[in-house]
Amino acid sequence: DKFRYWEVKRTQTTCSYCGVGCQMNLLSKDNRIVEIEPVNTIPNDGLLCVKGKFAYRFINHTDRLTKPLIKRNGKFVQASWQEAYRLIKEKYSKIMKENGPDAFGGFSSARCTNEENYLFQKFVRTVFKTNNVDHCARLCHASTVAGLANTLGSGAMTNSIEEIDGTDAFMIIGTNTTENHPVIGSKIKRRVKNGAKLIVIDPREIELAKYADVFLKIKPGSNIAVLNGIMNVILKENLHDMDYINERTEGFEEFKRTIEKYKPDLVSKICGIDKNDLIKAARIYAKANKASLYYSMGITQHSSGTNGVMSTSNLQMLTGNVGFESTGINPLRGQNNVQGACDMGALPTDYTGYQKVFIDPVRESMESFWKSNLPSKKGLTLTEMINSAGKGDIKFLYIMGENPMISDPDLKHVKKSLENLDFLLVQDIFLTETAELADLVLPASSFAEKDGTFTNTERRIQRVNKAINPIGQSKADWKIIMEISNLLGYEEYYNSPSEIMDEIALCTPSYSGISYKRLEKESLQWPCVGKEHPGTKYMHKNTMARGKGLFKAIEYEESKELPDEDYPLILTTGRMLYQYHTRTMTGKIEGLNEIAGKSYIEISPKTAKIYNVEDGEKIRVKSRRGFVESFVKITEKVEPGVVFMPFHYADGPANLLTNPVLDPIAKIPELKVSSVLIEKIERK
Ligand code: SF4
Repeated sequence: DKFRYWEVKRTQTTCSYCGVGCQMNLLSKDNRIVEIEPVNTIPNDGLLCVKGKFAYRFINHTDRLTKPLIKRNGKFVQASWQEAYRLIKEKYSKIMKENGPDAFGGFSSARCTNEENYLFQKFVRTVFKTNNVDHCARLCHASTVAGLANTLGSGAMTNSIEEIDGTDAFMIIGTNTTENHPVIGSKIKRRVKNGAKLIVIDPREIELAKYADVFLKIKPGSNIAVLNGIMNVILKENLHDMDYINERTEGFEEFKRTIEKYKPDLVSKICGIDKNDLIKAARIYAKANKASLYYSMGITQHSSGTNGVMSTSNLQMLTGNVGFESTGINPLRGQNNVQGACDMGALPTDYTGYQKVFIDPVRESMESFWKSNLPSKKGLTLTEMINSAGKGDIKFLYIMGENPMISDPDLKHVKKSLENLDFLLVQDIFLTETAELADLVLPASSFAEKDGTFTNTERRIQRVNKAINPIGQSKADWKIIMEISNLLGYEEYYNSPSEIMDEIALCTPSYSGISYKRLEKESLQWPCVGKEHPGTKYMHKNTMARGKGLFKAIEYEESKELPDEDYPLILTTGRMLYQYHTRTMTGKIEGLNEIAGKSYIEISPKTAKIYNVEDGEKIRVKSRRGFVESFVKITEKVEPGVVFMPFHYADGPANLLTNPVLDPIAKIPELKVSSVLIEKIERK
């Protein structure tokens, strides 16, 4: 796009990629976004990563959905909004009459605004009359929400991005921060260069490992063992903070008995690391004045994900590092608004602000607020809804801005289940792999075309501002939900997302001080519990949200699928800098695709030799769920016996291979560990 700077309109908004929530200006001309500029404010201080700065051309891309699409005889045909709505009403009435509320479900979206997530869960509860509503947090941080709620009373990042500058020691475990939260990664690197200590724990040699005082390259799935080992050393050497433990926590004695078993010799064997490194890491970390732990899906995406989260909480309480500036437990949330989607109650057991649907007085108060009878039964999670669709129980599924056909484990099963639905309604900005399977596709507007708010990883509620008009006949998701709600008999009218936020503030204690008027002046971090309340920079000051912090005695358990003769390699999956999630947006950006446009598998030189495969060679990767083809990248980043694939790519979808086994508490799948075999593809 050619333009001169005086011709463009500048609209400040929030990046729509990762959970850092960088502030940026959208430069627009003739209803097109023509460039992005960073804004020098909290939380990014003028920094943007490659995605935020350059990956904006999806907004005006010619593949954008511009009209509703109805599938007729296996092919999509364009339709009017009236036709689309008529079809929804017809299917809804028939399925509701024949099967009742349990036949309905909805996937809300961590890509959409708070206001849209609020309306979506309200719609599912008041119109579908079910709590079958969930979103992709189930695949990333459901174990954080469950684990930290249990030990501290609140399942979110405890501290703020700006506090990185005051931290003395970082523990980075199971987060490839420089690639997945690049601006936070840069800030950590800067702080380490200025003298802070850094412990990195990961099965791959991620970029931050280069800056680490100690790097523990653990076997995939051994997080709990390594954390228990570190805590064993801390206790043995009397480096724990007993005053803090006595004053602020409970459950210490039982926890201590469990930890005593995890001696460095045992742990080094389980994790495949040098015991002296383990001891060194424990000493550095425990001796630091302000120690802050960061983690992400390397901790959460395991069948023991919730326990892994609670182990991080044990370590931070043991060293007295919760409730103070520049310390804390900091789960880095992946998507732009995954924190907000959870806060807004796009969860099968929670209304907004984590108020439980199954507690009678809570539900009754919501019933009178929404003027509607509400279901009391806990809903199904996202993964359970897929299974239920497979069995024919859920018949009508409404998916807003999610792409389970790439993001969920065991994709063959997901496809079969979605094909088994009576009616699949997908609302998105592109015809995604999931939308291809839909009976009806509704065109939604991108973040550049609407107003709203996103809540970033540090609980900061920030404005999304409309820069251009909706593309084609697309509409903002909040408008579509409102129209369908009215169509199906639950009447609600909002002139703007600001009115929706006013309603959210009335029924959500932690958002009760939030209004667009305040957000115009400054972003605010929840809990923000009144119109004068300044918001909360760090949590659990003086007392934990649950009162006393709870130590949990947690035993290490092996991952559910281990390498064997048939599938001798451990597959671990993740993300990379140049692509985002299922590539719905970054897949449309030429520059990024030139750098990283194809599926690949990282293999160690030793493993490559054993299997006689070369760098760049296309090979077959097989698991018990199926096989994919992918290109070899030989690298020392992974250990022999371990392979890594990013999950972004539809041309070699890693999630066709992954194990759908679930964490029993959070129902998050074990995406980080499964067993595979690699094979050469014979040329004819
Ligand atoms: Fe956007 Fe995240 Fe990059 Fe910031 S770090 S520009 S929020 S993708």
